[in-house]
Amino acid sequence: MAEADIKKMIDGNALVSMCLSRAGIDRMFGVVGIPVTSLANRAVALGVRFIAFHNEQSAGYAASAYGYLTGRPGVLLTVSGPGCVHGLAGLSNASANAWPMILISGSSDQSLAGRGDFQELDQIAAVKPFAKFSAKATDITEIPKSVFSAVDWAVAGRPGGTYLDLPTDVLHQSVDESEAERLIAKALNSRDKSLIENPRIDNSKIEKAVELLRSAQRPFIVFGKGAAYAKSETELTKLVESTGIPFLPTPMGKGLISDKHELAATAARSLAIGKCDVALVVGARLNWLLHFGQPPKWSKDVKFIIVDVCEEEIELRKPFLGILGDAKEVLGLIYKQIKDDPFCLGKTHPWIEAVRSKANDNVAKMEVQLSKVVVPFNFLTPMKIIRDAILGVGSPAPVVVSEGANTMDVGRSVLVQTEPRTRLDAGTWGTMGVGLGYCIAAAVASPDRLVVAVEGDSGFGFSAMEVETLVRYQLPVVVIVFNNGGVYGGDRRNPEEITGPYKDDPAPTSFVPGAAYHILIEAFGGKGYLAGTPDELKSALAESFSARKPAVINVTIDPYAGAESGRMQHMN
Ligand code: ADP
Repeated sequence: MAEADIKKMIDGNALVSMCLSRAGIDRMFGVVGIPVTSLANRAVALGVRFIAFHNEQSAGYAASAYGYLTGRPGVLLTVSGPGCVHGLAGLSNASANAWPMILISGSSDQSLAGRGDFQELDQIAAVKPFAKFSAKATDITEIPKSVFSAVDWAVAGRPGGTYLDLPTDVLHQSVDESEAERLIAKALNSRDKSLIENPRIDNSKIEKAVELLRSAQRPFIVFGKGAAYAKSETELTKLVESTGIPFLPTPMGKGLISDKHELAATAARSLAIGKCDVALVVGARLNWLLHFGQPPKWSKDVKFIIVDVCEEEIELRKPFLGILGDAKEVLGLIYKQIKDDPFCLGKTHPWIEAVRSKANDNVAKMEVQLSKVVVPFNFLTPMKIIRDAILGVGSPAPVVVSEGANTMDVGRSVLVQTEPRTRLDAGTWGTMGVGLGYCIAAAVASPDRLVVAVEGDSGFGFSAMEVETLVRYQLPVVVIVFNNGGVYGGDRRNPEEITGPYKDDPAPTSFVPGAAYHILIEAFGGKGYLAGTPDELKSALAESFSARKPAVINVTIDPYAGAESGRMQHMN
């Protein structure tokens, strides 16, 4: 073969990178090694930013959140066997949260299958419970179709995780450049367009929804991270403001309409969900987070109107009215219909007065608690200082990442979201350990925003080594660790009940007291702060927020300040 021809040969690694790039993938997260190091390098050569992590679990969480924030699948690249298994954390989290993500793993040589090859595993079987689509390219010619299908399936219908398996022998096969282009063109042409189209909306259902809202005595709008993913904030705001219907965001729906909006019912949550007679639920599942839409939290007579892209979701919940479709489109149609024949509840409507007065009461009560300065810190005192510092940043608002039992619970009530998709937390699965991965995804997805993590020390510990990743890429991330010395805090056991030969071991919930987490980041050249008083915390926040460089603020919290299991004691 002539030298010119050899130069034009494209191997499997290069072909995968070309296809990802043509499919619009411009960021990848992962941990390289045999057999995928070359794939990462080829992707970088094509303009893809590859963010290299210490652990596939964190990289996978980053990929899942990147998919949510951008609407394009986040890609996690891993090695075979154990790399793929570690990646399942991110893949399963993506599917649980209905976020688009692709796990791409190298795999062992097909000719050695079943004989104990290096890192051998039946990866297609391993990903099955967590992937809505999976493909193994058994030959280089299958790469383009496999890549485009994995991308399309990740965003199709209800978004979720997909898997692409790349055996080492396939990555080392080659085709010449023109054959590569031919394979790509053929795969692009045969792409199933129906996968990426939104479902057709039934107009009669829009009319019915408008009629229900119009005739309701106590209408209510609930929206979740599906509505956030659909970028439906403009339509939602128009609908709420033109009708005067109060609204409740789920934790990650917060910010689609500002928490400060006068129709926000978050502070009157129990009253609003308990008393509403018609509830328009958009891009949010009536699962544990919304008390399954059932009594005693909800009225038994409430009529649900559910808007979702997933038909099975609507069938599962059996609402009074289900509207299949993209949240942005459906809300746009509902608003359009109302605009032609407007109605508005108005501030003096009894329902609005009831919700507003309850919300105002509860906000005032919370402010009284927040205004007490408690040192050693409880959860509220530092959370208020953090809230005010975040609000002080202005627009674009920081992305807030939150995890931990008490820290996330208290943060959800106290921290204020004013812009869409600026809150990432443990989500549908209550996944802890997502923090650093989410921070990195947010910083990569929204380079103009500061990222602020407010984490328990336990949540931070899952992936604390990724502070090196923050420093390596110089990401504008400030990680605030609520350090109460363990999961839920100090040793809460009854000493009389602790017996046996290991009774003197530390409690399963406890960590080294006073751990110097701020020093961890300094090992890599980042900035660390220790804060045990309001002044120390304010000064650390002011300095780190204006520097926009990687920092860890280690906030000393009274180990007995929180509750076991946050607000879910009954489950532990
Ligand atoms: P939350 O945790 O905020 O309550 P969930 O994850 O439980 O939200 O629910 C999100 C819902 O949004 C899922 O049922 C998903 O199918 C749906 N969804 C995802 N994308 C869209 C979209 N573009 N339009 C409407 N619904 C969507």
